[in-house]
Amino acid sequence: MPINTERRRFLKQAAGFSSAAAALAGAPAIAASEPYCPPASDLPDFSRADVRINYNEYPLSVVESARDALVSILGQTNRYRFDLQQQFTGRLAEHLGVHAEHLLLYPGSSWALLFMPELFTGPDRALVMAEPGYEACAQVCQRTGAPVHRVPLAADGSHDTNAMAGFDDAGLIYVVNPNNPTGTVTPRKAIEKLLADKPKDAVLLVDEAYIHFSDERSMAGLVADHPDLVVLQTFSKIYGMAGLRCGFAVASGETKDRLASRSAGAAFLPNTAIVAADASIADADLVPSRKAYTAGIRRDTIAWLKAQGVPCTDSRSNCFMMNVGQPGKEIAKALAEEGVLVGRSWAAWPNWIRVSIGTPKEMDAFKQAFARVWQKLGDGSESG
Ligand code: PLP
Repeated sequence: MPINTERRRFLKQAAGFSSAAAALAGAPAIAASEPYCPPASDLPDFSRADVRINYNEYPLSVVESARDALVSILGQTNRYRFDLQQQFTGRLAEHLGVHAEHLLLYPGSSWALLFMPELFTGPDRALVMAEPGYEACAQVCQRTGAPVHRVPLAADGSHDTNAMAGFDDAGLIYVVNPNNPTGTVTPRKAIEKLLADKPKDAVLLVDEAYIHFSDERSMAGLVADHPDLVVLQTFSKIYGMAGLRCGFAVASGETKDRLASRSAGAAFLPNTAIVAADASIADADLVPSRKAYTAGIRRDTIAWLKAQGVPCTDSRSNCFMMNVGQPGKEIAKALAEEGVLVGRSWAAWPNWIRVSIGTPKEMDAFKQAFARVWQKLGDGSESG
């Protein structure tokens, strides 16, 4: 493609994307959840926190090759490196085994989580999601007035996909695998069955933000034959790029066209995000080694909590939930006073708190703080 045409196309997309962002900026405030920049009043006191295991971030920064790529691109922050993004899109498609034209890049998959409910739900078209689940889509429905059907997780922590398939008014069915906040997985077979059994005109959105931590296989390969399936992934978690912002949707057919037109095509991402993501997917050791690192720390932390009498979810991710047998927010507050920020509780599970996996040192600090708080506030059985 001649460079001018290429540049014009990207500029048009970038302009459309910023007007979408501006329209969102003018919209009523969305309740804070981690990928959006919350108002200052909602932010914890980071200056007092030594340990931050509250946002499901990876506890380490990018791998060394990505760091080197970042350093070398710093001399070109003045340039629109559209070529880098195009090359990366091709390589990412190959890496995932999908068609490059089915990829839509965003500065974080949160953008797709804003657009999808806007496009596929409405006053008579419901969102179907798990409870407890990731709230991003539900927050959009709260603003637009679209109904939300919340389906409790099955006893094993998987999505109850049979129940989720059964809503005639479904416009968008949202599955997060592994789930946030519980870290529990839903077997691929069950998601495939949901895809086959759901109302034909509903779109199934499978959010794989945490898939790299689990043994589950991505659904992205099915998108080419299923325009009613959209898969999301992000570089914010295992790749350690939450602060760099790179995520994507895999979509096909009319669904892809609608998503692309709502988001003005793929966004133009910062050169820094592109080169770091590109270097990261070239590192074949990154996912297995970071997955093993997280799994070891998760196993140790959960075993320790269980030994204290604290039940935990069966997580295959970089977060889990613990049942503290009393309002979780009190324990979270007491931990914050000890300099340890943990996640929040969900309305449906008020006695459970989400905990993200940090470094071994951070988790040791968490254990020590938890032991002190547990002794002070009781283990819930005394208060019960
Ligand atoms: N999806 C899920 C389930 C998440 O937990 C998050 C972030 O916490 C995201 C998507 C969005 O991540 P990002 O916008 O950083 O790509």
